[in-house]
Amino acid sequence: MEFITDYNLEELRERFVSLGLEKYRAGQVLKWLYKKLTTDFSSMTDLPKEQRRLLEDTFRFHPLEKLDRVDAPDSRKYLFRTHDGHIVETVLIRERDHLTLCVSSQVGCAVGCTFCATAIDGLRRNLTSAEILDQFLQVQKDSPEKIRNVVFMGMGEPLANYDNVRKAAEIMVSPWGLDLSKRRVTVSTSGLVAQLRRMAEDPIMRELNLAVSLNAPRQSTRESIMPITRKNTLSELMEVLVKYPLPRYRRITLEYVLIKDLNDSKRDAEELAELLRRHRKRFKVNLIPFNPDPNLPYERPELTRVLNFQKVLWERGISTFVRFSKGVDVFGACGQLRAKRDYVKISNP
Ligand code: SF4
Repeated sequence: MEFITDYNLEELRERFVSLGLEKYRAGQVLKWLYKKLTTDFSSMTDLPKEQRRLLEDTFRFHPLEKLDRVDAPDSRKYLFRTHDGHIVETVLIRERDHLTLCVSSQVGCAVGCTFCATAIDGLRRNLTSAEILDQFLQVQKDSPEKIRNVVFMGMGEPLANYDNVRKAAEIMVSPWGLDLSKRRVTVSTSGLVAQLRRMAEDPIMRELNLAVSLNAPRQSTRESIMPITRKNTLSELMEVLVKYPLPRYRRITLEYVLIKDLNDSKRDAEELAELLRRHRKRFKVNLIPFNPDPNLPYERPELTRVLNFQKVLWERGISTFVRFSKGVDVFGACGQLRAKRDYVKISNP
């Protein structure tokens, strides 16, 4: 089956020509789709009837089937089913004055972070760009307000599915697509060094916001909770990040899941501050107190410990925020968003 959301404008023009249609019709169709959210060719009234029929016979709009929606005061969780029976989670989050959509990029994840529930079943498969975009389209259609922010923080490691994430992001930020601001689309990665280098060279990807799960200030601790870092070492990661071509006024977000007695000590905070000292203007740190999960052997630190950790970083001039999630089944690191979350900015202690 052929999905129209698998094509960017250039590719769709070529495909239309191969179908015997004029090139410019591709732009017309994408305007209906991404500006008016029309997912019915028969309503695209500026196309001749026979062309609409041909398009109907050729393309489909939705690769995902919406199974369920769970509403909470500040969020909605959507469950979708793929054509081959996998379940994909997407979460719409109400933040102070806007909506943020957290999309999944893979079914499961191969990275294997030991604190992450998504890792338990490993990777099933990559999502296609159409499956990634369809999460946006279906949720936007169901939402009373325009969704302005997208974070690739749902299931999966987005940079392990680079080409499909790139295509989806291109459609999200292009004027002929969803036309979201590049500043409002965030890719969150566990720190795949080769893909980060690729991203730094990529005119579309490097314009997006970048968030990296750091989770420890030293190689040995990081390796113990993120096996992928045996190859993607902390020193290589930092080398890429300090050279990363950031757009003006932009910083890289470092996500740090605080786990009791594992990476939450004063020494950990001091080492983290030292790691970032020479480049502190380049980074901000999000501290995410771990949310206990019955399947995982970790605990959340006491609040005072979290705040003390933050204080050490603030005192050394590093912008650091605590991100509390609400509810036991919610988590804020990549791959773990389950229902809803909230950002609480705590000012300089
Ligand atoms: S935290 Fe992210 S990268 Fe790590 S296993 Fe979970 S989904 Fe994968």
